[in-house]
Amino acid sequence: MALISAFWNSNQRLQTAAENHPPIRLFDADKTAVTLLQQAMVDTGIAPALQVDGIFGAKTAAAVRSVETQFNMDPDEGVAGRQTLGILDILLQNGQLGRDLAQTDTPLAGQKIAAAVLALNGLKTALKNGTTPATLTADGLSTHFRLTLAPSAPGITRQVTDADIDAILLRYNQLLGLFAASGIRFRTGVPVNGIDTAAEAPLNGPITFGPAFTNVDSHFGDRIGPHSRAAILMHEGVHVFDGLSGNSNTHISEFAPAYATQPADLSLHNPSSFAGFAAHIYNNGDPAPRFGLGPGARGL
Ligand SMILES: [Zn+2]
Repeated sequence: MALISAFWNSNQRLQTAAENHPPIRLFDADKTAVTLLQQAMVDTGIAPALQVDGIFGAKTAAAVRSVETQFNMDPDEGVAGRQTLGILDILLQNGQLGRDLAQTDTPLAGQKIAAAVLALNGLKTALKNGTTPATLTADGLSTHFRLTLAPSAPGITRQVTDADIDAILLRYNQLLGLFAASGIRFRTGVPVNGIDTAAEAPLNGPITFGPAFTNVDSHFGDRIGPHSRAAILMHEGVHVFDGLSGNSNTHISEFAPAYATQPADLSLHNPSSFAGFAAHIYNNGDPAPRFGLGPGARGL
């Protein structure tokens, strides 16, 4: 992992600071590195009036603290290390961070959910009228929820019921409400699980989007494309509403082989199943690779 922006990526002192070995701090002896740090904080608008003089004094420390405050990071007395440099590195690449980026993704996530809701309502109508349901909807349900139209033997799969469809519809409608309130239910910050975690949410929220949730190359990992970010929004949204969604037998990634054999009754609580089904319907088939934080997240 390294600083990516051409603005400062050739500076070895900053590269080691970005790994906290050691961070840059008050009265750091490397004037070139300090000058770049100061210029970065000016250029990104963090501290537009900061004097760029290569001296890491109290004003530079205050500017670093303002990065930490702005992005809800652990305040560490104005020391510029992995978190601060990583965030500046994203901003230097004209990247968006956390809540701001996630809010731009809510329309795409909402369109996928709308497609899923339409398909599920169509299925309800077909089941009621005894007509043939859409193949796409049947495929999506069996792929992501292990629910089948025909009776199936007890075990992994199960025949879908009206109550199943209503439960899935309820969850999707809750997600739409959550996205509509993203201004207060989303936040930028460093996830409890660590700075490499793109996003996380406890029951009842909020969803915290970390520096790794970004649309540019960054030293926190690859950039994440809009479809994968939409999948993350839906996934985290389910965590907000379903207290069972984090259980280890429930929380199985759409990229894990075990996803395909998760019993239906557990799939109905799996956040990845909701993201996967909506993408499947919107995409007119299961995307390959799937969206989410896995193979293909880069750029997709
Ligand atoms: Zn999760």
